[in-house]
Amino acid sequence: MAEAEALLREVFGFDAFRPGQGEIVEAVAAGQNTLAIMPTGGGKSLCFQLPALLRHGVTVVISPLIALMRDQVRALRAAGVDAGALTSGNTDEETEAVWQSLEAGTLKLLYLAPERLASGGAMQMLRRINVSLIAVDEAHCVSQWGHDFRPDYLRIGELREMLDVPVAAFTATADEETRAEIVTRLFNGVQPTTFLRGFDRPNIHLAFSAKNSPRKQILTFAAARKGQSGIVYCGTRARTESIAQGLRDAGMAAIHYHGGMQADDRREAELKFQQDDGLIVVATVAFGMGVDKPDIRWVAHSDLPKSIEAYYQEIGRAGRDGAPAETLTLFGPDDIRLRRTQIDEGMAPPERRAADHARLNALLGLAEALTCRRATLLKYFGEDCKSCGNCDLCDNPPATFDATEAVRKGLSAILRTGEWFGAGHLIDILTGTETDKIRERKHDELPTYGVGKEYKKTEWQAIFRQMMGLDLIRPNGERHGALFMTEAARPILRGEDQILLRKDSLAAAGKDRRPAV
Ligand code: ADP
Repeated sequence: MAEAEALLREVFGFDAFRPGQGEIVEAVAAGQNTLAIMPTGGGKSLCFQLPALLRHGVTVVISPLIALMRDQVRALRAAGVDAGALTSGNTDEETEAVWQSLEAGTLKLLYLAPERLASGGAMQMLRRINVSLIAVDEAHCVSQWGHDFRPDYLRIGELREMLDVPVAAFTATADEETRAEIVTRLFNGVQPTTFLRGFDRPNIHLAFSAKNSPRKQILTFAAARKGQSGIVYCGTRARTESIAQGLRDAGMAAIHYHGGMQADDRREAELKFQQDDGLIVVATVAFGMGVDKPDIRWVAHSDLPKSIEAYYQEIGRAGRDGAPAETLTLFGPDDIRLRRTQIDEGMAPPERRAADHARLNALLGLAEALTCRRATLLKYFGEDCKSCGNCDLCDNPPATFDATEAVRKGLSAILRTGEWFGAGHLIDILTGTETDKIRERKHDELPTYGVGKEYKKTEWQAIFRQMMGLDLIRPNGERHGALFMTEAARPILRGEDQILLRKDSLAAAGKDRRPAV
């Protein structure tokens, strides 16, 4: 590996490998079929560029984005590496130059848009030249399961068989369905050497908090970090504007950003954020793709993101420079309801919807975690981590209590009323409250009526929220959000499972604040 390290310094100008890069480079350079899952910004391109230089012949790189290919080719050429791209964006001269390098046998990396694989000419050319490796960037594009499916990616399997050379596939998408599909389609079902590295961002402090007055909570968080660059993510366009105004009123430099703004205004906001020191951007998720600012010191969510992947992406924009960065994610029952409804009412096919619910559940599980948040997060991505010492739960481990009995009472209220009611009415039943609705429906005659008097209403709300967070119950979109019981709750009803809930959320409820869900 001495040669690899020398190239790392001399060609790429880096002192050391990032976490995971060294091992991946070694496997790819040795000609192993490889699948590497690394987060965005983790440094995937080096993991095929460097082996390309170590191997004889040409490395063919399949990549879905022309702009990205061109950037990489430019950077490689600037570093003295003979690289070229064949894309629809080429000028005739560029294409000619690539052919000449190929003829001369000097070309080391040939970037190809996947569409090229559909043309017989390109396939023939690839057969003639000395290809030693196929690198597939954004390999999840081969998966029909994901968002970015590109039909031409399916031809890569054919290309591999035709050339009979190793494949190195790269993606930031970690979920198992996608991974399995990559293995099937790119590696003919034979498990490649797989690396999952670099998801841990130890300098980012992780924290969640119950949403009680989001505007005030965000202002307080930002004010404590005045003068630092930060991003506030909001669920709606309107809220980006109102929170940005609130921050400005409190004497902070803040702008808003959302997809409803003119392209020019968006561009201007991005530039301003990039250039100014200590500016806060209050944005929808539309913000961030094109932003490469290393010294973002904090990211706050005024609303719960839509999935654990989205959460990870968004907080990951903080602290790219490796210096300490902080995050705060607010969440409450309305967020959970909103996200579930968005999934249920979306246009996605049923399997996709089930997967989206699962990704949201994973995030709720993280929000509800009882022990180290980072360990919970990394476990989802398949990486191990001991208690990190840099999250709110390591700072202050939450006290728990055995809530099995309370949860069973809650479930029983739901079932005995036919899964037709929302939390408010169910809590009235549990606490034995006399209301017109209860009398009309004769719910005061239910055996569950009044069995939950040991908890106040606000405490019951906290219990229901945590039950929702644990996906024991869900709102039914077709019944105006009436709660129903999920399969996950069955073992609790049968007395086979114990449920621990966080004590602090009940204590907070006792003070009549909206508690941690
Ligand atoms: P990805 O494709 O994984 O999103 P890139 O390959 O574009 O990420 O790399 C992200 C950034 O990290 C680039 O600016 C790259 O120059 C930088 N980088 C990659 N490897 C190293 C390294 N070993 N040391 C320092 N910087 C690196």
